[in-house]
Amino acid sequence: MHLKIETLSLNDDKNGTVGRDSSLPSEQQIRDDVLLLWREEPETEELNIHELYQRITTRNPSWKLSQEDLVAVLALYNLYSTDDKELKGYADRIEFSSVEKSTPVLEIPRGVKLKLCPDGRGRGLFAKKAFLQGDVVFEDLQPLAAIPPIEKLSLMGAGKVCSLCGSSITHSPHFIMMNGLDCEVCGAVWCSAACKKQDITHCFLKHIKGKKKLISPSGWAKYEQYCRENVFVAAYAIGIIYASIIAERGNKNSKDIICKQFASLAQISQRTRRNVSDSTNLGGTFDASSGAVTTEDPEPVWQKAFSLFQESFPHSDISLEAFLIFIGKYNINQVNGQIYTLYSLINHDCEPNVRLEFNGKLGLKLYARKPIQAGEELLTTYVNPLHGSKLRRRELRVNWGFLCHCTRCDRELEIRMSNPTIKSSIARNSLATQKRRKSSMRNARPDLHELLKNGKEFELDIPENPQIGNRRRTSVRFDTKVTVAVEE
Ligand SMILES: [Zn+2]
Ligand SMILES: [Zn+2]
Ligand SMILES: [Zn+2]
Repeated sequence: MHLKIETLSLNDDKNGTVGRDSSLPSEQQIRDDVLLLWREEPETEELNIHELYQRITTRNPSWKLSQEDLVAVLALYNLYSTDDKELKGYADRIEFSSVEKSTPVLEIPRGVKLKLCPDGRGRGLFAKKAFLQGDVVFEDLQPLAAIPPIEKLSLMGAGKVCSLCGSSITHSPHFIMMNGLDCEVCGAVWCSAACKKQDITHCFLKHIKGKKKLISPSGWAKYEQYCRENVFVAAYAIGIIYASIIAERGNKNSKDIICKQFASLAQISQRTRRNVSDSTNLGGTFDASSGAVTTEDPEPVWQKAFSLFQESFPHSDISLEAFLIFIGKYNINQVNGQIYTLYSLINHDCEPNVRLEFNGKLGLKLYARKPIQAGEELLTTYVNPLHGSKLRRRELRVNWGFLCHCTRCDRELEIRMSNPTIKSSIARNSLATQKRRKSSMRNARPDLHELLKNGKEFELDIPENPQIGNRRRTSVRFDTKVTVAVEE
């Protein structure tokens, strides 16, 4: 589990989402406060609508807000419905190429088979033979195109880390020179001969090397800079993938594999995804893992990035719409920032039967988390399995467009429906507990990788009730900003 440090604004702050004298809150204010509450105290997403209404009105005593208003606002932003089926998704708009077309492109390993799922979930990977718990199902040593970690670009420029995989350079300058691990033109250095060989885009993107001016290094420098400043990971990634396609085509015996594999991936426009999402990233659910910026209006960022993309690749005939499809495609298929074509074919389940391990050099290994029968579908998890069912399902709906009805989700929904006392104890969870719990999260929560390995059922971490009651935190004033470690 990755943790990142984030600074949150508390709603006590007069510059926060809630104005002091806004007795009639706007729809956005209501939506934002609900999302902020869910973010501050993730387990409150499990509250029923009446309990949620109580929490929101306690947080905002001056608001004139009825429970019906709250329901209407949440429904408007696709955040709540009494009937699950009314929540909008976009899974039915995701396009993918046929099994017949994609199989020859993908080099599918012996133990698995690509098939169409019987229940309309698109393609899926199935076991061709039985696997025991802990068996390696397959490994993928190379992502589709190695995408350097965007946050390490300046360290790469300074030759402090490998220009491809981002790992620290421990070799002496003498060793690097003797083994040719440096770039002849700039200060870039690679950790190994393998990384240097795999980095097929460095020269094209950074230094002019003919290629009929298909790539403009000065345009790319601006594009890279813009993506970095806006944490637009997806745009940076598709720039690298596009450059890899051009670089591969420059090879005489090229089979155009990168292009064909990228084409075979499931796709949907980022615009469609965003329109169906909860329209704000305050809750931090949309593309949380890719770091893509989603502001109230991402259009200017998209357009600016697109114009710099065109400047980087002067001969490309890609339209803004195609660009946004690439962005959406990257976001729904990426894992750990990379695209592994085979792995991206595996469907989701909140109780997966496979788990992943990365080897630190961009390679991926897939293990059986439980015994798998021949013919059984391989299922992985796209979201943190330690999250509660509502948060998991919202993340899945926002980021992959479907409402999860796996066995675990249905079981947990049923338990919640029949157990009102769990909900009221969650409702009384105080901010103090919340802060303590977050700061000690590493110890208090079971390690995700351990959980995924040991094959046991996941247990939700419901904090003990500190009996503080659900008073508003009137007597304690916090700084307007708190810094907490949150899960990425
Ligand atoms: Zn490396
Ligand atoms: Zn260079
Ligand atoms: Zn599920």
